[in-house]
Amino acid sequence: MAKLIKEERDKGRLHIDSPLMGESLVSKTLLKQTEAAEYFRMQPDINIIKIGGQSIMDRGKNALFPILDALIKAKDTHRILLMTGGGTRARHVYNIGVDLGMPTGVLSKLGDKVSWQNAEMLSVLLAKHGGVKIGHGDNLEQLTMFCRQGYMPITYGIPPYGFFEHPAEQGSIPPHRTDCGAFLLAENIGARSLIFLKDEKGLFDKDPKKVPKSEVASLKFYDRISARELIELDLDDLIIERPILTLLQRAKCLKQLQIIDALRHPGYISAALEGEHVGTIIYKDE
Ligand code: ADP
Ligand code: MG
Repeated sequence: MAKLIKEERDKGRLHIDSPLMGESLVSKTLLKQTEAAEYFRMQPDINIIKIGGQSIMDRGKNALFPILDALIKAKDTHRILLMTGGGTRARHVYNIGVDLGMPTGVLSKLGDKVSWQNAEMLSVLLAKHGGVKIGHGDNLEQLTMFCRQGYMPITYGIPPYGFFEHPAEQGSIPPHRTDCGAFLLAENIGARSLIFLKDEKGLFDKDPKKVPKSEVASLKFYDRISARELIELDLDDLIIERPILTLLQRAKCLKQLQIIDALRHPGYISAALEGEHVGTIIYKDE
């Protein structure tokens, strides 16, 4: 009788013939079978370039203008989506939120406006060169079209978690901020490359800004390191957001990312776009 009831119930519920029929989509064995031999890449010619908020934009025109000149030049030969960081203003609002005991999701909502403001500023500065600010909706499917028409699309780096942000491992600062946003988008559109414009030559074993000047020269520099090795090193501080390391290990399309010092070397932008190794490359272990 119980069997009959179950069969009747399943008949009503499961009337579409699908291999995933009746699955909870939790089983590890089943999930393994959903691995594609090769993943479809929607925007294989688009390069995502994230402009740091704190490391670049907050430094003002002396830092930013040479970088914008380099990007305008690079746009003739490469298809580029610019993504923006938050920076000091985001840190300020996080600090007020932390003081008020705000949960991570609220902090995430507060910080996203700053990255949006930076995207707005870039789109104004680049307007006459084809800079166009876009959101996170259907425009992301049109990136190649924008670039073919000579535009340089610009969007905010913050991913749309808001109240759905994951709890942080430590404390309350939203763990997925603009570096993660740039990473997640690059992975999901199947981008050609992902480049982070920062103000250090790449990854060291310590933050060069937090050690005495005399010790900077003796810091260990990592010009190329795998995500797994970097997780194992468990450094106290990193030049990119930590969740990227785990995400990169799981990535289906993106194989690596590069962090470059665009502040001192705006010329590295075109070099990195050409595939040259001019900063720190973090790669996925195969
Ligand atoms: P952005 O504005 O681009 O998001 P952040 O200020 O958030 O940049 O992160 C970049 C900064 O991270 C660098 O300017 C550097 O001072 C700091 N940093 C922290 N840890 C490291 C490390 N291990 N190696 C290099 N830089 C580090
Ligand atoms: Mg940052």
